[in-house]
Amino acid sequence: MDDCLFCKINKGEIPAKKVYDGDEVFAIEDINPQAPTHLLIIPKKHHATLLDLTKEDHAMIGSIPTIANDLARERGLDQSGYRLVVNCGAGAGQSVFHIHFHLLGGRPLQWPPG
Ligand code: AMP
Ligand code: ZN
Repeated sequence: MDDCLFCKINKGEIPAKKVYDGDEVFAIEDINPQAPTHLLIIPKKHHATLLDLTKEDHAMIGSIPTIANDLARERGLDQSGYRLVVNCGAGAGQSVFHIHFHLLGGRPLQWPPG
């Protein structure tokens, strides 16, 4: 998508701190971190929300928890715990309409989130 922030970051048109770059998924540091570790794990294929996923995406989406595990282990979060969360739709707090998983950790996390 020409006008999508995360597609532009994927293409290198907007700078970001990349922490992972795979064939189908990449990860960056969130620009406005809500925890000591706040990463965004992002499919390279553009889908606006989780609701747009199809069966074709199962393998790619299924790879994300293990990518999150690797990123979490590198930061010691396998010991302290981490959260992997997706906001789906404006009512859930989604502000960038290209699917992304938030990986948060490094401080005690409350439940339920706001
Ligand atoms: P959400 O509200 O779930 O759509 O999450 C969007 C996230 O993208 C927020 O946590 C923002 O801080 C983050 N964000 C917005 N712009 C950028 C950017 N240019 N680089 C990195 N993260 C960003
Ligand atoms: Zn996009």
